[in-house]
This record gives sequence, C-alpha cells and structure tokens, in this order.
Amino acid sequence: MEQPYLSIVIPVYNEEANLEHLMERLLPAVQGTGHSFEIIFTNDGSKDRSLEILCRMAERNEGVKVIDFTGNFGQHMAILAAFEASSGEIVITLDADLQNPPEEIPRLIAEIEKGHDVVGTIRQQRQDSAFRKMASRVVNISTNKITGMQMQDYGCMLRAYHRYVVDNINRCKESTTFIPALAQTFASNPTEIEVGHAERAEGESKYSFYKLIRLNFDLMTGFSVVPLQLFALFGIITSVMSVAFALFLLIRRFLVGAEVEGVFTLFAILFFFIGIIIMGIGIVGEYVGRIYQEVRKRPRFVVRRAYGFDE
Ligand code: UDP
Ligand code: MG
Repeated sequence: MEQPYLSIVIPVYNEEANLEHLMERLLPAVQGTGHSFEIIFTNDGSKDRSLEILCRMAERNEGVKVIDFTGNFGQHMAILAAFEASSGEIVITLDADLQNPPEEIPRLIAEIEKGHDVVGTIRQQRQDSAFRKMASRVVNISTNKITGMQMQDYGCMLRAYHRYVVDNINRCKESTTFIPALAQTFASNPTEIEVGHAERAEGESKYSFYKLIRLNFDLMTGFSVVPLQLFALFGIITSVMSVAFALFLLIRRFLVGAEVEGVFTLFAILFFFIGIIIMGIGIVGEYVGRIYQEVRKRPRFVVRRAYGFDE
C-alpha cells in the first residue's frame, strides 16, 4: 500500500455509543477531500464493545486501522502509539465523542498546505461545563506564562500536524506528555484557527476531576521548570522578609516591650508558611516522580494487537 496523504488519529476509551456516528460523519468528510487517507483508532483499554465495533469498521473500510492497547494508558499515549504507526503527510487528531466536528478537517488541511506546520484550534462556543471552561482559562494563561509558548486553547484536540513534526514527536521517549505542547516545541510556523465545538454526543467525559488535575500537571511540569524556580524564589523572598520581621520584633521589644496578644496572628503566619513548604515539597516531588518514571524506562504503552496494518 502506498503512503497515504492523510492520517486521522483517534483515541478511543469506552466510546461504543459514538463510534458508528463518528464514522458516518468522518468518512464522507475525509473522502470529500479527494486525498488518500488512513484512519487509525487506538483502543485505550476500553471495557465496552468499542474494540469489536472498531474491528468491524477496519474489516469493512479500506484504510481503517486499529491499535489495541492491553490497558488504559491515557489519551496522549493512545495518540502517540497511532503517531508511531502513521505514515501520512498530514496527521490530524480528533476526539471520538463528536465534540470536534469532522467537517472541519478540510480547513485544517488547507492551513497546512498554506505552509503552517502545526494547526491548533480554538473552540468556538465551547460546549462544556462552566467549571471546565474556567479551569481551561486558568490553564491556558498560566501555561503560556510558564512555558513561554503562545497558544489560546491547549485543550482542543482537533489539530493537524505536518509529517516532520510528528516524526520529531516520535523521537521523544518521555512517558508522560501533553501532545499539543510537545508539538508546539517543534513547530516553526504554527497557527490557530477557530472551529466549532459540540457537546459530547453520548456517554460521559473520560476525565474525572483527579485525571484532569494529573493531566494539567503533565502540561505544567512536563514543559518547564519555572514552578520549581518560582518556589525557590518565593523561599528567598520569605526568608528575607522573616529577617525583617524578627528585626521589627526585636526593636519593638526595646521600645514597647514583648508582645503576647499576637500569639494567634503568629499561628496564622506559621500555618501560611507551613502550607507553602508542603506545596513546595509537592512540586519537588512531582518532578522527582517524573524523573523516577523516566529512569525506570518502562514501556509507555503496550499494544496487544494491531488490525488493518499490512506486513
Ligand atoms: N480517551 C482515551 N483514554 C482515556 C481518556 C480519554 O483514549 O484515558 C479518549 C476518549 O475516548 C475521547 C478523547 O480521549 O476520544 C477525549 O476524551 P473525553 O471526551 O472524555 O475528554 P473531554 O472532552 O471531557 O476533555
Ligand atoms: Mg470530549
């Protein structure tokens, strides 16, 4: 089989109710571009009938391929596995829950053909809970500040990449990552376009509150050491301030005498700093944990079987 022009990459975790609808809209959208294509689904350890449905699709449709993980390794690992297996000139990622309209694909392709190497997307009228939207706002702003990158919407996974960006991503062997940010580090001419956004068609978000926090830690600490540096800086400022505070207390002792009533104020101050210290240990621990993960050099994901690939 010759090399396809487009590779569509879709992570799937318990999406049995969405897959058929997705295909109904995705196939015409991709065929309509007139380019050769492959569609690679990664089944990220689904416990429902997703794999069965995917395999049936792979049998029926030319160019549909399935990578089956042995367990749940996460959305970003699922995408990475598909990246490694992909060969298209343009690689497009998209969610399986129809939140990203497949009809936008031609616009992404047009941007790459204009010479951009990474096409990000900004969700227009994002259909998520107010809480998720607000959290994203905070994450987008702070990630741009911390990493020095410029992206308006890190969370939208409907994105297009030029082959060489994907090849470079494939050379990274880190075991936790955040693909849009990783791609941004290899992009020389990225752009962002506005795309539509829908509510999740069926089922529930696969991200619990805890998983979301983990994901955002991947984004923050995976791409910068600024959190560590900020913490060190804060430590220095605090110690300088506490020296000043001690001096003030000393002088006050000579002028007015020792103070006792302020005991609880002191507690408040103490708790504040203890909080800061614990947070700092946490941040350090986050990095140490990541270093540990990298040194162990465990496989990042395990493929049980692949369907639809030749060889
Ligand atoms: N997903 C995955 N593994 C996971 C979690 C999610 O492959 O551990 C897939 C999921 O099937 C979907 C995409 O990643 O195609 C985005 O997940 P979801 O829609 O639940 O995230 P949200 O839109 O709530 O951010
Ligand atoms: Mg979704």
